[in-house]
Amino acid sequence: MNIVLLGAPGAGKGTQAAKLIDEYGLTHISTGDMLRAAVKEGTELGLQAKKYMDAGDLVPDDVIIGLVTERLSQPDTANGFILDGFPRTTAQAVALDAELGKLERPLDAALLIDVKPEVIINRLCSRRMCKECGYIGSVADAVCPVCGGEMYQRDDDNEATVRNRLDVYEKSTSPLIDYYRGCDLLVSIDGDRDVDVVYADVKDALN
Ligand code: AMP
Repeated sequence: MNIVLLGAPGAGKGTQAAKLIDEYGLTHISTGDMLRAAVKEGTELGLQAKKYMDAGDLVPDDVIIGLVTERLSQPDTANGFILDGFPRTTAQAVALDAELGKLERPLDAALLIDVKPEVIINRLCSRRMCKECGYIGSVADAVCPVCGGEMYQRDDDNEATVRNRLDVYEKSTSPLIDYYRGCDLLVSIDGDRDVDVVYADVKDALN
C-alpha cells in the first residue's frame, strides 16, 4: 500500500502514520523528520533547510523533491510506504506522480486528516516530542511514556511560527486536496477526535 498523508501541521499525521506502520509494516517517509535529522547532523542540507524551518516556511521544491526521489529509490520502500509531510505543493505532487510512474508504484490513497486551524494552534503549542524515540506527546508528558526519554518542544512549535505554518498550508498545500480528489485518490477523515477513533476510520477507509 502506497499512501500520501495530507493535513495541516499538527493534524495528527505522524500519530496516524505510526499506527499504520505498526499494523501494515509500511515504510515511513517523513520529510520533516529527514530535515530535522539533517539539521542535527549539521549537513549541507540541514544548514540550507534550517532557516526555512525556523520561520515555518517551505524548503524549496527542488531540494525536497531530490530528497524524496532519492529515498524512494531505497529498497525498503518497495513493499509500501507512507509519505508524511510530502507533497506540500502542486509542483511536489506532480514530481511525485512522475517518479512513481517511472517506478511503476502508483499511489493507492491520499489520506487527509482534517482538523480546524483553531484546534491546531493549541495542539501544536502544547506538543512535545521524545528526543530518543520520536514519540509525539504533550506538555503533560514529563518524560516519554514509551521509552522514558527526555521530551522537548520543536523550535517551530511556537505560536508565531505555527500561525505562519498554517498560512503556508492554506496557500500552498491545501490545493492538493482538490488535486488528489481529481485523481480519485482522496480519503478524508475528521481528525478532531480521539486518536483511536480517528485510526478506526482511517483503517475502514483504506480497506
Ligand atoms: P513537518 O515536520 O512535516 O511539520 O515539517 C517541518 C518543516 O520542514 C516544515 O515547516 C518545512 O519548513 C519543512 N518541510 C517538511 N516537509 C517539506 C516539504 N514537503 N516541502 C517543503 N518544506 C518541507
